[in-house]
Amino acid sequence: MEANIVILPGDGIGPEVTTEASRVLNAIAAQYGHTFHFSQHLLGGCSIDQHGTALTEATLNACKQADAVLLGAVGGPKWDNPNAKVRPEQGLLRLRKGLGVFANLRPVKVHPDLRSASPLKEEKLKGVDLLVVRELTGGLYFGTPKERGIRDGVEYGIDTLEYKDFEIKRVVDLAFRLAQKRNKKVASVDKANVLESSRLWRQITTKVGENYPDVTLEHVLVDTAAMRLISSPANFDVMVTENMFGDILTDEASVLSGSMGMLPSASLGESGPGLYEPIHGSAPDIAGKGIANPLGAILSVALMLRYSFQLENEAAAIEKAVDQTISSGYRTTDLGGDLGTRVITDQVISVLS
Ligand code: NAD
Repeated sequence: MEANIVILPGDGIGPEVTTEASRVLNAIAAQYGHTFHFSQHLLGGCSIDQHGTALTEATLNACKQADAVLLGAVGGPKWDNPNAKVRPEQGLLRLRKGLGVFANLRPVKVHPDLRSASPLKEEKLKGVDLLVVRELTGGLYFGTPKERGIRDGVEYGIDTLEYKDFEIKRVVDLAFRLAQKRNKKVASVDKANVLESSRLWRQITTKVGENYPDVTLEHVLVDTAAMRLISSPANFDVMVTENMFGDILTDEASVLSGSMGMLPSASLGESGPGLYEPIHGSAPDIAGKGIANPLGAILSVALMLRYSFQLENEAAAIEKAVDQTISSGYRTTDLGGDLGTRVITDQVISVLS
């Protein structure tokens, strides 16, 4: 097959890990006879420096026209001023909205050899294989009014948490379809005891669930979900939730795997290109040192091959190569090793070929 892939390296370690991920894509292309065309664009702090905005229209259009988009990470201390009008994260939010990617998929699996790298007791981690599906284009991060001001001499800040029925239905429906291919369990996470938007979420999820009699649905309050992710994570299969709950719970879930650097994500919409990125940030503390863990980015391109290009064998080959690389003891510093970024990728590629 032939595909056009836009790469948005971003800031910090973003360029380092996307370079490694594209090397793995090239290795797959050579091995399986595919052609991937890459083009690179600025996003985040680097785009602010060059263009005064975190995402230009030209970059957004290039992404819309691509078959898939690979993103590194954005942000860093240079652009961290909370009073700044232009911020790197704005680029990320506009990109997700612009591509219409309403579902963020974050698989969390714990390699047996990495259980000791997690702060949790090793026996809790046996059998952990969960997929968090986070709603990505609604909720508090996008609702309006969203403003600061002064009223009657009192300074206030407002964010709005609003969900429309179709926004819930489409992401929950996707979660059920994904569960059908896995262990057929969906945990829908909400705060229905307090929030109106959560009561709507629960009502619609229950209705959608009726179309999937083969999948078991349970509703879990977000506080309980946060607790169960630590006390019994292996009991979850697919977890689906709204934007901010998902943001927080996925970071919590990432701790299970031992390092943020290990985890990939895929953001998907109804149609159009998927957006693939490791879940970690730009890690300014280690940027430029050549020690970033590239596996989250590499596993993200495995998701790209699976979800955007339907290349299941190639996706599984990358995941297997990553597993073997870890089993053979190859580790970056975040996993307690001392190997550099490139050495890890070299090993993944050598296992692949
Ligand atoms: P971070 O994920 O960048 O780093 C947290 C810790 O994990 C750091 O100690 C870092 O060195 C380590 N780490 C992260 N990825 C790693 C990797 N691949 N290999 C080895 N170690 C790794 O989170 P942060 O420090 O809270 O944020 C730094 C910047 O990144 C901020 O500007 C933040 O806004 C931004 N950020 C961006 C995204 C994104 O682009 N999607 C996500 C989260 C944070």
